[in-house]
This record gives sequence, structure tokens and C-alpha cells, in this order.
Amino acid sequence: MPGIEKLAINQITTDAQWSLREAVEGYAGAGVHGINVWRHKLDEIGAAEAARILSDHDMSVTGLCRGGSFPAADGAGRKAAINDNLRAIDDAAAIGAACLVLVAGGLPPGSKDLADAHKQVRDGIAAILPHARDVGLPIAIEPLHPMICADRGCVNTLAHANDLCDELGDGLGVAVDVYHVWWDPALEAEIARAGKRILAFHVCDWLVPTKDLVFDRGMMGDGVIDIPRIRGWVEAAGYDGFNEVEIFSRDDWWKRNPDEVVKTCIERHEEFV
Ligand code: ZN
Repeated sequence: MPGIEKLAINQITTDAQWSLREAVEGYAGAGVHGINVWRHKLDEIGAAEAARILSDHDMSVTGLCRGGSFPAADGAGRKAAINDNLRAIDDAAAIGAACLVLVAGGLPPGSKDLADAHKQVRDGIAAILPHARDVGLPIAIEPLHPMICADRGCVNTLAHANDLCDELGDGLGVAVDVYHVWWDPALEAEIARAGKRILAFHVCDWLVPTKDLVFDRGMMGDGVIDIPRIRGWVEAAGYDGFNEVEIFSRDDWWKRNPDEVVKTCIERHEEFV
């Protein structure tokens, strides 16, 4: 039964309700001192102001969401993606984030060449890693559920993310999000293989039925994922960071009173994580 000191909340969980300042005040006021920040919220106030707010409330920043989205139809698009990632690295470092969470990106418009998309992701990460190493900011590859391979992320298994870490080396790790990887028969082995490269652990639940592949995540305890078992694997691999609640929920949790959402995160974290 993890205590509240292990609980972080990914800001997307209150995306519809709260700005960054409101989220920090709301989480800290409830006793939660870990937060993963989203760039669209950060951009509303800038990294310097955000860093002040986070530090004033004694918040640990578990990550910045998110970088990646490398595949593009042409060289200009690929260059723009790399520049955007370099900015994200600087912002993540400026707010003291533990990592930049990276999602691969899907197929460029009109493309059916998945192998090329994989190569573009590999090349994109290789292009930004030197800067990430220079500023001491780890990059966490988050494999995404294969149902969103085409439009959001073509790294879909922890094995693929681990392969990229093996190939590209220092400064690179993984984010294990139970929503994306719970179904994988190789999950336990790949978590063990990732070992100390696990930079973040994201929790929520898989609802049955799921009405939307992105925006219908469940609160822990409302679905079918055995979260304590996966947390056990992650901790056995050497991870001792936060358990980060990350819930995209357009028709449910985003419509609720955000203080109630935070209270529920705290209760469910204690009982179901
Ligand atoms: Zn996640």
C-alpha cells in the first residue's frame, strides 16, 4: 500500500479544469507533492514563472509531457520536430523536471511505411540526445498502445523502447504507463530488462468497454489492470520514484470538480496502486 509521498499527479488529469498554478495549488493543498507538467499549460505562463510556482509549493516535477512526434513527410517537417524537441528539453530542464517524456509520433500523412516511421523516430531521438546530455536532462521513451500506432506513436512495446535505449545509449530511458503496456505478455521480462532505465511509472486503469482509445482512461480500481503486480515488477527492477496518476477522461473525470478528482486519486492510489 503506497503512501501519499509516492503519489504524483500528471497534470493532464485535471487538464480541463485547472491551469498550472491552479493544479500546483490544488495538488499541494491536498498533500500531493509530485506533478508531471504539460507543455501547453507551461506555455501559458513560461518556464521561469512555472519554476517559481513549483518551487514555492515544494513540488517534485516527475516529467514534462511531451516531446517526440518525429516522423514527418519531408525534411522541413523533420527539422521542425527536432527544433521543437530541443525547446522542450530546455523547458524541462528549466522547471527541474526529472525527464522529458517522449512519444514517438505516428505515420506521416499519406504514408504506409511503418519501417520508415520507426527509422525517423530513431534518427530523431539520436538528433536530440546530445543536447539532452549536455543539459543533464534524461529522455523517457513512452511506448504507446498499438491501437494508436498510426496517429500517435509507433513505438508500441517496452521491448522496442528498450532496443532504442540499447542502441542509442546514455541519457535515454523509458516511461512505463500501465495503460499502454498492461496487455503485453513480455511485460515482466521487459521491465526487468529496462532496470534502472525506468524513469517514470504512470498509472490509471483500462475500462471495459473502452469508449475512446485516448480520452476514456479509467481511475485506478475501475478497470482490469493489476496495477500492484506491475508496480511490484517496476520496483523489483530498481525504480523507486513516484507513482504518477495520468488520466485522460473527456466525458468523466475532466467534467468533475477537480478537488474531488484529486481526493479520488489519493484514495485510489492507496487502495489500488
Ligand atoms: Zn503516460
